[in-house]
Parts: sequence; structure tokens; C-alpha cells
Amino acid sequence: MPSRRDFLQQGMRLSALGAVAPILVTNANAAQQAAPADLTPPPDLFDAQLLDLDFWVKPRTLSVTRPQSGERARLLYWKDGEVIDSAYQELCHLLRDVNGRATAPIDPKLLEMLWGTQAFIARYGMEQPLEILSGYRTPASNARLQEQGIPAARKSLHMSGKAADIRIASLTEEVLGGLIRSFGQGGVGYYYRSGPKGGWIHADTGLNRTWKG
Ligand SMILES: [Zn+2]
Repeated sequence: MPSRRDFLQQGMRLSALGAVAPILVTNANAAQQAAPADLTPPPDLFDAQLLDLDFWVKPRTLSVTRPQSGERARLLYWKDGEVIDSAYQELCHLLRDVNGRATAPIDPKLLEMLWGTQAFIARYGMEQPLEILSGYRTPASNARLQEQGIPAARKSLHMSGKAADIRIASLTEEVLGGLIRSFGQGGVGYYYRSGPKGGWIHADTGLNRTWKG
């Protein structure tokens, strides 16, 4: 959990980019005092365009879980402008097709988008792992999902390691999807579902587009 000083410093740094500092600082304090389950800042604060260059050059650690297999990992996979191959391979394994038991290279741009999402909300004291519901899919697995009536496009980018279905505890689809959209790096699908866990967000590195599924 970042200290109050960290938040203030961030607020000051961000204030150079616009008049948003007072809102951010107020929100950060509120987030610190609230219970983890209540950490849902207003979506309009989740705009990756506010990020400074400093954010993008820091070492990148991604914390992910795979609910389907019970795996979890926290991996430093990028440092000094270079992908760390051993960690990258582990991430490809984590984002594998669990049903089809197949691993494929995952687009580093997708990892950057996932990391950026996680690192961005960490600025607000939210450190929960990113849940990977689906990563790479073999064509056979993708076809099986379609047969079962589970949303899966025929030419899904999951089949080329360019898409992931994700969820982050305590973030609504609206907030998580809005943040990923603000990176402007690909497609975002909103899958709203009722139930205790809610829905999920599909993120890919294809064309910039948005849909509801
Ligand atoms: Zn998907």
C-alpha cells in the first residue's frame, strides 16, 4: 500500500498535466480509509491519458491469477526497455489454453496493456491480482466455446495470443473497461453478468473498437 506521501507526490506530479490534483488527492485519501471491497473510485478518474512518461519506463511486474487452474504468480517481466524472457515464458504459460493444454506466444503489447491497467490502479492503493479467465485459445477450444453458446468470435484474437478475458476484484466492468479503453491500444468487449463475481472484460490488441457481449 503506497503511503500518503506517495499519493501526494503523485498528485503533485499529475498536477503538472492539468487541474486534476485536488480530486486525485481527495480520492486517494478516501481509498486508503475505505475497506478493500469498497475501493471503487469514480470511472472518470481512470484515464490512462493522464499518465506521464515516468510511468512507462519503470520496471513492470504483473500479478495474475488463473481461477480455472488455481495458479497465481507475480512476475517482473520487463525492465530497462527489455522483456525478461524467463518471466515472459511463464506469463505465456499462465495465459495458455487451460482446456486445450496448449501454450502460445502472447503479444507483448497485450501484456503491456494488462500491466498498465494493474499499475494504474495500484496508484490508488488497489493491489489485487488480475484474474485471467481466458488467454490463448486453440481453434478447437474456440470452436467448442461457440458450440456451447459461450461468447467467442469465429476469428477470435484469442487464437493468436492477442486477447485476454479479465476481471479485477472490486472493479466493475464499466470501470475496468473504461480504463483499458483509455489506453487506446485495441478492442474492449464488455460482458456484463449478474452474480457475485459479475462479468468480465475482453481486451485485445486488434483494432480500436468497443462492444457489449
Ligand atoms: Zn475474449
